[in-house]
Amino acid sequence: MTVVHNLGFPRIGARRELKFALENYWKGDSSRAALQALGAQLRRRHWENQAGLDLVPVGDFAFYDQVLDMSFTLGNLPERVRGFHGDALDNYFRVARGRSAASAEAHAACCGGIAAGEMTKWFDTNYHYIVPEFSADTEFKLDASRLIGQLAEANAQGVNAKPVIIGPLTYLCLGKTKDGSDKLALLPRLLPVYAELMEALADQGAEWVQVDEPILVTELDAAWRGGFTTAYHQLKTARVKLLLATYFGPLQQNRDLVGGLPVAGVHVDAVNGREDVAPLLAQLSDRQVLSLGVVNGRNIWKTDLAAVLAWLEPLAQQLGQRLWIAPSCSLLHVPVDLDAEQKLDAEIKSWLAFALQKLDELKVLATALRAGRDAVREEIAANQAALASRRSSPRVNNPAVRAAVAQIDARLGRRQSAYAERAARQSALLKLPSYPTTTIGSFPQTNEIRRARSEFKAGRLDADGYAAAMKAEIERSVREQEALGLDVLVHGEAERNDMVEYFGEQLEGYVFSKQGWVQSYGSRCVKPPILFGDIRRPKAMTVEWITYAQSLTDRPMKGMLTGPVTLLNWSFVRDDQPRSASCRQLALAIREEVLDLERAGVRVIQIDEAALREGLPLRKSQWKSYLDWAVESFRISANGVRDETQIHTHMCYSEFNDIIAAIAGMDADVITIETSRSDMELLDAFDHFNYPNEIGPGVYDIHSPNIPTQDHIVQLMKKAAERIPARRLWVNPDCGLKTRQWAEVIPALSNMVSAARALRQAA
Ligand code: GLN
Ligand code: ZN
Repeated sequence: MTVVHNLGFPRIGARRELKFALENYWKGDSSRAALQALGAQLRRRHWENQAGLDLVPVGDFAFYDQVLDMSFTLGNLPERVRGFHGDALDNYFRVARGRSAASAEAHAACCGGIAAGEMTKWFDTNYHYIVPEFSADTEFKLDASRLIGQLAEANAQGVNAKPVIIGPLTYLCLGKTKDGSDKLALLPRLLPVYAELMEALADQGAEWVQVDEPILVTELDAAWRGGFTTAYHQLKTARVKLLLATYFGPLQQNRDLVGGLPVAGVHVDAVNGREDVAPLLAQLSDRQVLSLGVVNGRNIWKTDLAAVLAWLEPLAQQLGQRLWIAPSCSLLHVPVDLDAEQKLDAEIKSWLAFALQKLDELKVLATALRAGRDAVREEIAANQAALASRRSSPRVNNPAVRAAVAQIDARLGRRQSAYAERAARQSALLKLPSYPTTTIGSFPQTNEIRRARSEFKAGRLDADGYAAAMKAEIERSVREQEALGLDVLVHGEAERNDMVEYFGEQLEGYVFSKQGWVQSYGSRCVKPPILFGDIRRPKAMTVEWITYAQSLTDRPMKGMLTGPVTLLNWSFVRDDQPRSASCRQLALAIREEVLDLERAGVRVIQIDEAALREGLPLRKSQWKSYLDWAVESFRISANGVRDETQIHTHMCYSEFNDIIAAIAGMDADVITIETSRSDMELLDAFDHFNYPNEIGPGVYDIHSPNIPTQDHIVQLMKKAAERIPARRLWVNPDCGLKTRQWAEVIPALSNMVSAARALRQAA
């Protein structure tokens, strides 16, 4: 009989309980014992939530991050936190955050303030993990206490526990060597610790252990593939059965490798990699389990249960208890409970499934496979009715939008003239000095702004009162910028809570949940908008604010928009059409806004694409096709304007080497990027490519409260001018200033403006 299980459950809590408990603890407002108790309570609740599954994940709970947990399990702590004082949990937070808790004060001189571990994105998700650190002489030493403790809790609760760990190859691959040594060379030292861990789990009664190896959905070279063979042959003697779990995509060229590993079972992502299943099955022995991830763990849509069953039924016949079913990946990446959404539109809600609903779907599938579809006739009928309503809903399908997308041709994405000609016209119109100064868009989100917004949302402030409060903030920003002497001004984005939500709320085709939080890192959560239908812009979204801001000054005011690729990549998106199709619809909506701004007399328009890079597929072989449609979408949104209108874009990251051709293909007149921390070296990529348009390399890090000096900025810009001709350089911060205080912003920008003046004089 088919076995039903789960790979991981969201740990933050349906009401973000873990977030608040962590933050209270860090502030010193609650005790460690209280935090530990809350953790235990969440684990207990989440195991109860998963009752009815044959196997439930244990060890997926983490106080900060599952990769950091694994580093502690393997005894791989960065040198700088060894020999710490105090509690292990505090040391764990010290690695995560660079400090532990309020009590760190007591340790300020010894171990209180240290560099936090580097954080980076977990594959192609928006979850961030703490990067393991290695060097040639890294030693590992097992500390199984966390896993053993949680396993004991689960056993006491009567849970059919399946411990979950990150596999040795993925663990090594995700880390960084600080001394340039070869990470893979550590494998022989690492494997005995894994073997010991398996023994410890067996002693605690575990029958199965889920070993996550998601790097198997990426391109691996021969050495890493060889590492898999070595590792799993060495671990096969363990007394536990290993379920090798892969997810986030198809196995493709690693399929034969996986099929040949001596593990008791393999989990594959059958949402994205269904084509692997038949050939993989042919390779597995008749004792190996095949776990199929048939419910999408990455989005919030209901599964088509009838379609999945039609595919699974023959497999269940063939495999019997060797067939397991599960979500495609851990449910960490979706919100917990759709039932918490009281205000969500009922029709749209009927199309959705969050973590708990996804587990229900699995149970229905399992029952159907075990007892026949009749046993769950009503559930399947309701599911099919919901899907039918989604397919035919006029809110999903807008023929006018489809017609407009069908008419997209290359012309839409082309400017009238090439950059050089445009630049001449823009400069005649804008009359900017050399080294023009600007900012990235947002100014501090002050308490007054936040208060006005929450009063407005609560209905205690009317629309006019709210607009007046926002206009007052815009005016303040404009006055400050004029006083500072900036050249191209911004309105400051006071009216925007978030750069995606602000636009999503005004576009047809988007809805917002109230509790749909997903962990981003540590205690940070995001609530991705839900892009459910064809995108239409009923009316202008920003024109009123920008024209108001422009009316206050003679200097050019930059219109500020979020680009189509970023709107897409930071949302839950439709699964009934390719991402590229949704992106083109967004591009047309933004294009109309750009043209409205231009008609209203706005001469400079910035279209942010902060999330372009993070949409890159896991396999390099698929980068080109993504970049093609992403760049095309940007160009459609931006390039309908006249030559005189200057298009800016902004990207806040510092890796361009491998995508520079695509960036140049966007053909923005000006791109502002993050560079201050890389000492302008990142401009080498632009230099080598002979990047033809203008660049504003960020001259100071807005994440830090430090005020950059004029001299430091001048030095940075001189380095920039060694790589990019000075006439194509702008001077600006790395990113928007919304998280800073005015008291920090004013001196920093004042130094930035005087640096630009000094550079002009020296030229
Ligand atoms: N215009 C946005 C701001 O200034 C850009 C934010 C971002 O790039 N993440 O806040
Ligand atoms: Zn940015």
